[in-house]
Amino acid sequence: MLISVALPIPLFREFTYAVPEALAARAAPGARVVVPVRGRRVIGIVTGAAEPRDEVAPREIFDAPDDAPVLSAPMLALARWISEYYVAPPGFVLRTMLPAALASVGTPRPPQREQRVARLARALPSLLEREATFKRAPKQRAAYELLESLGGRAPVRHLVSQLGASPAVIGALATRGLVAFEREVVSRDPFLTRAVPPAPAHAPTAAQREAVHRLRQGGGGESFVLHGVTGSGKTLVYLEFLRTVVNEWGRTAIVLVPEIALTPQTVDRFRAVFGDRIAVLHSGLSDGERYDAWLALRRGEKRIAVGARSAVFAPLENLGAIVIDEEHEATYKQGETPRYHAREVALVRARAEGAVVVLGSATPSLETWNNAERGRHHLLRLPDRVGGGVLPGVMLVDMRRPERPERRLAPDEAALRYVLSEPLEERLAGRLARGEQSILLLNRRGYASFVQCGACGDVATCPNCNVSLTYHRVPERLVCHYCQYAEPMRAACPRCGGDVLRARGLGTQQVERLLGDRFPAARIARMDMDTTTGKWAHAEILDRVGRGEVDILLGTQMIAKGLDFPNVTLVGVVDADVGINMPDFRASERCFQLVSQVAGRAGRGEKRGEVVVQTRVPGHHALQCAARHDYGAFVAQELEGRRDPPYPPFARLANVLVSGWSESATMEQAQSAGAWLHALVARREPGAVSVIGPAPCPVDRVKKRWRWHLLLKAEQPGPLTRVSRYFASRFPVPAAHGLRITVDRDPVTLL
Ligand code: ADP
Ligand code: ZN
Repeated sequence: MLISVALPIPLFREFTYAVPEALAARAAPGARVVVPVRGRRVIGIVTGAAEPRDEVAPREIFDAPDDAPVLSAPMLALARWISEYYVAPPGFVLRTMLPAALASVGTPRPPQREQRVARLARALPSLLEREATFKRAPKQRAAYELLESLGGRAPVRHLVSQLGASPAVIGALATRGLVAFEREVVSRDPFLTRAVPPAPAHAPTAAQREAVHRLRQGGGGESFVLHGVTGSGKTLVYLEFLRTVVNEWGRTAIVLVPEIALTPQTVDRFRAVFGDRIAVLHSGLSDGERYDAWLALRRGEKRIAVGARSAVFAPLENLGAIVIDEEHEATYKQGETPRYHAREVALVRARAEGAVVVLGSATPSLETWNNAERGRHHLLRLPDRVGGGVLPGVMLVDMRRPERPERRLAPDEAALRYVLSEPLEERLAGRLARGEQSILLLNRRGYASFVQCGACGDVATCPNCNVSLTYHRVPERLVCHYCQYAEPMRAACPRCGGDVLRARGLGTQQVERLLGDRFPAARIARMDMDTTTGKWAHAEILDRVGRGEVDILLGTQMIAKGLDFPNVTLVGVVDADVGINMPDFRASERCFQLVSQVAGRAGRGEKRGEVVVQTRVPGHHALQCAARHDYGAFVAQELEGRRDPPYPPFARLANVLVSGWSESATMEQAQSAGAWLHALVARREPGAVSVIGPAPCPVDRVKKRWRWHLLLKAEQPGPLTRVSRYFASRFPVPAAHGLRITVDRDPVTLL
């Protein structure tokens, strides 16, 4: 028997191997095989049967380790689609779909522990029957109903040691056939040791009920945009819908969140309702833990996978729904091969497996919005905050100054004014006096964004990247945010020897310091990449905020997502202009989303919220619309701006990135790729695909590699797929100067 095998090597083809008789049954499509590749043993995935070819006799596989295929037929088909669309070698795609523990030879399977699980064996839907059954056994009734409230199954140890059920009572239920025992592999997921707050039993509002109702009517493969303003209760809609999917339809579900670490509250809400039927897939898991979760999902022991983008590959069968929370977030796009977008993959997977997709956001991406307008998604709206809450008033503060403030103000005050305008300072002081909490956003970590010589103007830059070094005060050093290069703070300018070095541009550390000086009694927490390196650091900081131990939470975009703290009544955006002038067609959209999202953190409880946004471009439409909470106006204007020249959603893009160690070789390679593509397009897809460039990337050197790019643009996806694939598989890249070419389909950034 001959089989086709996808191998994790950068080639756009599969390989043919022979299977010895003894392994024939195991080397089924979707199963792993161990095969010889240039003298090494390599793990590949069987993609199907192969035809004999007479040039060379195929080699035999060494082994087929799986009792059952690790990938189902729909997952193999999904891999094929990803490989085609995102121009990625099939073996890389398949490797991405599987837990790391399965991806290489010799990885020991993590040891497994088993536990006893109690499961309800007989339902008692009628109250009369229930009364009769438990007439003289109130303890049995309590245990029965406890198990019921846990979704019908729970580990016996959990019931006994944490919930106080008696083993004898559970045993009695088993003897009466009301409960059955099973064995199950124990998960070592640390998320399960986090205490789950009890589920608040809110009755859905009319708008939430209507949304859930429409989702329940959704047919397989249909997709819905849940456009709900911040604080409109989107999570309850997901939960109610998933109750139907899991409990009534008996199907499974995937919930995608932008980043697990940043959304412990959302995850807690799911755990509160679905208990241990959920597998939380987060980056803190070890390979073994991830593998455990994967197994539990595949065996159907867990019914819901919650995770970041790669959870879209959860090995669930009978998939009923995929929920994508904050669907506009850029984290759903993978930054390395395969450069897939989890939202697009979810839509394709759902269509193939008959699941309903829910795309939730207060600020849907323009692509999603455009698709909704064209009838590809159904639109559901939650136009108001729950409980009659109102969206916070937003004040734009113009930070341009007619005169240099130093002239009028004492130096300390000048430094403060540069960071905190009077309106923001006053409001912060008011919150502190009243014991309410504030959130301050500055999307730039470090102390100062660059260091400049006062004499010659020289700016300290990274030796590996064409970007300035960021000044960090604690610990004191200059750091590159692209490659993590760091050096000690300079005593003098290396160019002119001048010893006045100015720290310019604001970072979170500096704001923290100024806040500390101005409000010495305030309890300030800073949340950015520098304070959250530990596994649980995010959750710890956020838990402290939740317990009221923090007065001011200061942070980068990490604090803009999904947080729900009723006592936060003030949100300040220290500098809304970070990123707004980036040479990227999505710059305005990102600015609008960030400001809208962080503004949405204010006033989510009974008390009214307020937002202060500091900017030097107060007239910018992204800020104007965000200040009025006017998504419609923003989208209308932004879409107009993307029509001519066309950009997504009116055009499809593929960014062809050429990089290498040598500046001239990279440029020449980009130029020859450009000529090749221009000729190809003229011959094969005239008018359907256009080639723009080549040009140096806006950041033209990163990690010692020079970077050029070309943009492929098309109205329809088909021609773009054909051109990209043909280019990626045929264009010769010389093995010199570390030259590399990657194709980024539907790029989220052009930097
Ligand atoms: P969103 O994700 O839309 O910003 P959330 O789902 O976080 O909003 O909900 C905001 C808050 O409103 C949460 O604290 C949630 O518990 C609460 N909430 C949601 N639905 C209801 C409801 N029907 N009644 C009362 N409170 C609700
Ligand atoms: Zn660098």
